[in-house]
Amino acid sequence: TATKSIKEGKAEICLTTEKVFYNPVQEFNRDLSIAVLTIFTNEYKAEQLAKAEKREKNKAKNTTEDKKETETNNEIDISILEALSATGLRSIRYAKEVPNVTKIVANDLSKQAVETIQANIVHNQVDNLIETSHDDACMVMYKHKHPLKRFAAIDLDPYGCPSVFLDSAVQSVQDGGLLLITATDMAVLAGNAPETCYSKYGAISLKTKCCHEVALRIMLQCIESHANRYSRYIVPLLSISADFYIRVFVKVYTGAIHCKKTTSKLSMAYHCTGCDNITLQPLGGFKPNPTEKNPTQTKAYLPAAPPVGEFCTNCNQRHHLGGPLWSAPIHDEAFVTRVLKHVENNPELFGTAKRIAGVLAMVREELLDIPLYHSMDRLCGRVHLETMPMLIMRSALLNAGYKVSYSHASRMSIKTRAPAHVVWDIIRTW
Ligand code: SAM
Repeated sequence: TATKSIKEGKAEICLTTEKVFYNPVQEFNRDLSIAVLTIFTNEYKAEQLAKAEKREKNKAKNTTEDKKETETNNEIDISILEALSATGLRSIRYAKEVPNVTKIVANDLSKQAVETIQANIVHNQVDNLIETSHDDACMVMYKHKHPLKRFAAIDLDPYGCPSVFLDSAVQSVQDGGLLLITATDMAVLAGNAPETCYSKYGAISLKTKCCHEVALRIMLQCIESHANRYSRYIVPLLSISADFYIRVFVKVYTGAIHCKKTTSKLSMAYHCTGCDNITLQPLGGFKPNPTEKNPTQTKAYLPAAPPVGEFCTNCNQRHHLGGPLWSAPIHDEAFVTRVLKHVENNPELFGTAKRIAGVLAMVREELLDIPLYHSMDRLCGRVHLETMPMLIMRSALLNAGYKVSYSHASRMSIKTRAPAHVVWDIIRTW
């Protein structure tokens, strides 16, 4: 086969065989990951330097020569693992385009892929930064679970479902480190195979108009549940549904006490088979803990709230039960704003800058405390009305005193805290 040369960002890769996976459509995924990693590594480095400085100061205090100026080591180790690397394109772009990175491991199980990665590393002159590895992704991660060996960031970009890699991934990322995870098995996550979804992700998916956000929330609860087994928990920075896949960016922290709060970030979802409305039933909650010295400290508890009924209160049809879903925020608004600013100020760095800016601007507007959404076409379709203009619905909800936003996952989405009967009233009076 003839050699194919592909340019993307600052990388140029050569492909000599069709057997090594390359998908040009994923440029958006790779660009977005570089933008996120740029902000993440800047902040991670600053955090690690601050920690190192504190440690040095404490050490100095405890020694006799305490007045000595403290020295901090400016070399902060920021290593990235691309566990399923294929051509190496992503790793090479990370090496050339993400600041602060000290080492990248590009791994693949396929021998041909590793040979391709090696050739591409030499071609791009990044052999000082990238190491190749020919192994099962899980094995590489298990070998790095010791705190001194962990990666600052791990990228998982498998074919289909990433859940088999999660047990090792949550153990081999640094405290405060980043996981970047793709899932492409949208049929499973978006409700076509709820039983398979349960066996792979530990949650039942739902066939609903807001299935893409449901998919993100299933993915997040799945990562959290793996992390919790090792007294770790996640903080989502950005969760994106795009094209045929979802991509989540989550920080992982260690803390057994925080893990007790997980139930309060999860809900079961009651999905009406008639009007498509979804009612969430939280798995847990918080109340002030009187035994804590600090009165703002809260205590996790299991709610005594009655379960949502068998029938929908709007249309009297039966509910399907889905979940558990992550029902806490799926993005960190301040972080998203920093990524968006970086992309807007440096559009020349990203082939898909315009698309990233558009998606992140929508993400930033999303109402973070309102999981899921109604879909305008589904609402109107159910009552055989032609689709009501979004602007009319949005103004009606605002006039009725309810906040409203889109979701980046759908142009027809209406995120609002307004009860479903208010939404139906607006449709009826239109
Ligand atoms: N991240 C790449 C990119 O951005 O171009 C694409 C990765 S491709 C979707 C998935 C890759 O995972 C394939 O090259 C395949 O050989 C590799 N793979 C599959 N199972 C694996 C495993 N258990 N461990 C390591 N690599 C694996």
